[in-house]
Amino acid sequence: MAGINQQQDFHFFDDVCRFVDKAAQFTDHDKGLLSQIKACNSVYRFQFPIRRGNSFEIIHAWRVEHSHHMMPTKGGIRYSDMVNEDEVMALAALMTYKCAIVNVPFGGGKGGIKINTKNYTTAELENITRRYTVELIKKNFIGPGIDVPAPDYGSGEREMAWIADTYMMMNPGSLDALGCVTGKPIALHGVHGRKEATGRGVAFATRECVSIAEDMKKLGLSTGLEDKKIIVQGLGNVGYNAAKYLIEFGATIVGICEYEGAIYNENGLDLDEIVSHRKSTGSILGYSKAKKEFRNSGEGLEQECDILIPAALENQITSDNISRIKAKIIIEGANGPTTPDAAAAFIEAGGIIVPDMYANAGGVTVSYFEWLKNLSHVSFGRMDRRYAENANKNILNTIESATGLSLSAAQRAIIAKGASELELVNSGLEDTMVHSYHEIREKMVSNNKIPDLRTAAFVLALDKIATSYINMGIWP
Ligand code: GLU
Repeated sequence: MAGINQQQDFHFFDDVCRFVDKAAQFTDHDKGLLSQIKACNSVYRFQFPIRRGNSFEIIHAWRVEHSHHMMPTKGGIRYSDMVNEDEVMALAALMTYKCAIVNVPFGGGKGGIKINTKNYTTAELENITRRYTVELIKKNFIGPGIDVPAPDYGSGEREMAWIADTYMMMNPGSLDALGCVTGKPIALHGVHGRKEATGRGVAFATRECVSIAEDMKKLGLSTGLEDKKIIVQGLGNVGYNAAKYLIEFGATIVGICEYEGAIYNENGLDLDEIVSHRKSTGSILGYSKAKKEFRNSGEGLEQECDILIPAALENQITSDNISRIKAKIIIEGANGPTTPDAAAAFIEAGGIIVPDMYANAGGVTVSYFEWLKNLSHVSFGRMDRRYAENANKNILNTIESATGLSLSAAQRAIIAKGASELELVNSGLEDTMVHSYHEIREKMVSNNKIPDLRTAAFVLALDKIATSYINMGIWP
């Protein structure tokens, strides 16, 4: 059944490798180097017990460091009873390419804890998270310059705070300890705008995609978001915020799909009303202003719309349902929502896919700002204006030299007036998403053999990663 449920057929890492192989044809990198780039450098699988009542329960967990061409490695921790080694490896690999595409100087990493969070008390979740952290510390799989986790599906600020606290406890006096994890609460040196960043980035990606007249003409669409009808799969942090900012940018959300089913109204849905309906009833179904509702969530994806945003889990758009998808544009808010065969069929039929490794890169982009903030031991933004100007100038200059991006006049103006941290973060995020979209698209149009944005993005990422490896040389 298509829908939000995760399929357990363990081909996700292979799928990512298939995308890489397709792009590798458009590069002339050494085959050995390409194999080194594709493989996961370190896969740490472990288990630990927790006490539940009078008995022990074994928790299975992973941390994967995909590529060390840049350090630290970076990526979220997935808390899910469906998580498996293949999935964590695939997600770690995607982090490598994602960071390269948005010029965030990290290698890719990812973690997984195989639990259904709903079955554990808060105290148990805290125990599991702290023990997981200690297991990573023991093996040198966490640290501000080693591997820096972040939130992912099933985890958030609360878990990141427990990780930071555990790491600080185990490294007393370490000045940089707070940089061991990102996505922390603001009160624990997180950064404003991180929570919304992935969804906001998805909205920027969508806006850029529909801004290009030539591409929209081919799809028979006008430019701009004002007349666009969008279906979003997933009302979690990514899907909710993507929908929220897209509405702010003028688009209409006509469909929402979740575990329990899907709802649709071609005239538009009220996001916040639906969220409160779900809070009080436990389901999006039964929302009075939906014109159609589907118990099979997968049917929701197949309704009339211009843009489909899968923002839940991988393996949602497959050879089984691709022919029924009516959208002309897919923006991959989730990691790996479209299988390679489904993607090829959609592109062949003339559609545009804005790939995950770019579309959802807003999260790690703002994680980078948080990490820089923690390591530079300053607060961004407006305090005393003279201090703010200097602090902001330093931070943005660091970002500029690390990413190779030059600051826009708008960003310079923000610095000059001493902007708030949120303004700085959002402007850095917007700039990154805009710049990267055009970099990817230009790569695609510069070589008419490159068939789609994903392949172009992988070509760019491979070039950047290969350059790092070549410059570094091989030790010893
Ligand atoms: N889990 C997020 C992702 O897949 C965020 C990673 C990070 O901020 O390090 O991109």
